[in-house]
Amino acid sequence: MVARLADLDVAGKVVLLRADFNVPLDTDADGATIITDDRRIRSSVPTIKALTDRGARVAILAHLGRPKGEVVPRLSLRPVAARLSELLGQPVAVADDVCGPSAAATIASLSDGQVAVLENVRFDPRETSKDPDVRTELASQWAAMGDVFVSDGFGVVHRNQASVTELAALLPHAAGLLVEKEAHVFSTLLTDPARPYTVVLGGSKVSDKLGVIKNLLARVDRLLIGGGMCFTFLAAEGYSVGNSILEADQIDTVKGFLQDAKDRGIELVLPTDLVITQEFSEAEPIQVVQVVDGVPDGWMALDIGPDTAAHFAQLVEASKTVVWNGPMGVFEMAPFAAGTIAVAQALTKVDGMSVVGGGDSAAAIQILGIDESLIGHISTGGGASLEFLEGRTLPGIAVLEV
Ligand code: ADP
Ligand code: MG
Repeated sequence: MVARLADLDVAGKVVLLRADFNVPLDTDADGATIITDDRRIRSSVPTIKALTDRGARVAILAHLGRPKGEVVPRLSLRPVAARLSELLGQPVAVADDVCGPSAAATIASLSDGQVAVLENVRFDPRETSKDPDVRTELASQWAAMGDVFVSDGFGVVHRNQASVTELAALLPHAAGLLVEKEAHVFSTLLTDPARPYTVVLGGSKVSDKLGVIKNLLARVDRLLIGGGMCFTFLAAEGYSVGNSILEADQIDTVKGFLQDAKDRGIELVLPTDLVITQEFSEAEPIQVVQVVDGVPDGWMALDIGPDTAAHFAQLVEASKTVVWNGPMGVFEMAPFAAGTIAVAQALTKVDGMSVVGGGDSAAAIQILGIDESLIGHISTGGGASLEFLEGRTLPGIAVLEV
């Protein structure tokens, strides 16, 4: 179990809070930075409020984009701090540097219940250094400015970085509410899921998810495979897949998974029909083909077919625990979104625990207008959620364990 926020003494203390503010940005007609999706900022509000309600002085550490250890003005956290201030309904001070005189002065100016954001931690090359001593040097500078540390950036807990792991080792610490919830959900999925337990996997590449498949095969009752990764499975079963995405070098590995599923008595369900087209575009005519008939030469499959979608939805709804990672098709184009919509809607009807992991899958839920309140948990960490499902130890979680 991770150390809990409720057990940490924060009243009147300077709390260094690692948050995940890595939001997508765009620029408006006047060249001003706009935040196109503020979900990550919103997700950090409960922890910040819990801290300010208890009289903490909150100094937030976060990264934005990949400035690669240099100050990149376009990746300043100022616009994020402005949005956070709106969400909190109180002023948010902003430091001009990561750990220098401005950060120190900004923190020193805080009263109980006030909030500040320090500048993008990745402006400092030491944040992501491969050398733990270098990371500790940066973490020590922060530790000197604060009393306790709270880790709430779930999107970065799979990384060894100064503001994630080294800082936790230097100060009394606890998980924030978001990290605590994510860690609880994923450890339940791995250790104590209610059954039947179904995992739906999709997305673009099977090679991205080999570790996830391997680890889950030992735990689930059913594994449903759609998306771009299903063609390597279908090819391994001897079906022709035309021009669909195929990772020929993974066919042997996938054959091993098919055998492993058989040996364990796990239902590994592949599509029986597919939506196909001749060009990667929504303008082209589309058809539905049966998998047994094969995808014709010159055609590619960009979604699971209607029979498969209905079957997957039925299996999902009949489960007590469901994890979904990876879109069933190229949902970004309307003619190929139906499979993903069917699975996402089925997820809202699960009588039990439903979890969405993976960046594009979480985005799909939002873009496709699925009612998020009906889904048990939508993970805020794409990479972190996948590493959890692989059964790996996440360094930013391990350092919080009690
Ligand atoms: P996640 O981020 O949820 O883990 P991935 O990054 O693995 O998901 O994959 C998401 C991408 O997979 C989407 O952009 C989607 O268009 C693509 N995809 C799904 N099905 C197919 C397919 N049949 N052919 C090509 N790309 C696909
Ligand atoms: Mg992705």
